[in-house]
Amino acid sequence: MQNFDAVLFDAGGVFVLPDPTVLGPLLAPYGGATDIDMHVRAHYRGMAVKSAKGSAEKSWHEYNLAYVESVGVPADEIAYAAHVLDSTRNAYVWRWPLAESVAALAALVAAGVPVGVVSNASGQIEEVLQRSGVCQVGHGAHTSVRVVIDSHVVGVAKPDPGIFDHALVYFEGIERHRIAYVGDSVTMDIGGARAAGLYPILLDPFDDHLGADFHRIRSLLELL
Ligand SMILES: [Mg+2]
Repeated sequence: MQNFDAVLFDAGGVFVLPDPTVLGPLLAPYGGATDIDMHVRAHYRGMAVKSAKGSAEKSWHEYNLAYVESVGVPADEIAYAAHVLDSTRNAYVWRWPLAESVAALAALVAAGVPVGVVSNASGQIEEVLQRSGVCQVGHGAHTSVRVVIDSHVVGVAKPDPGIFDHALVYFEGIERHRIAYVGDSVTMDIGGARAAGLYPILLDPFDDHLGADFHRIRSLLELL
């Protein structure tokens, strides 16, 4: 692996997922499983389908269908369950921390690696990351990061490379190609980071993107 001097991260799908302890019981009446691991798997399945279809950031239709199918909703209930999922999931439900990612972030920071977060969000992501025990900007109870950029706050969203400029001012002196950007969306994260001149890496825990022409990791621990 290339050596990096700094790492920027996406938030959704990297540190936090749509809360499976909410979505499990939500989808159970339509035949969905409540098993946490199945919901984690369903998120990445949904993201892979969303990326394959080239869906825009705010278009979650393909994701919803793939998600409910992945947790075992039978064919005749998929459309209805996907509608219920879409009606329930909101920015604040993206709050369930991925323990391995949280641990990897802490270890990177402990190793002296400058890190930050750049997220397409709704104005909530900095507080959600703090409440979920992932990180905060500056000193605090959790891992300290240099900056958390929220697309709603700065008014520009991935894949527009301009969103990264808001973070890169906190990484002065580090060349862009020496800064990795880790996300779970090919369209938003790989595309956006490439356009910004960063080094894109896809978090692909289930190898949904075998053969892709970009760097993939199965766990943030690989960054160490
Ligand atoms: Mg994401």
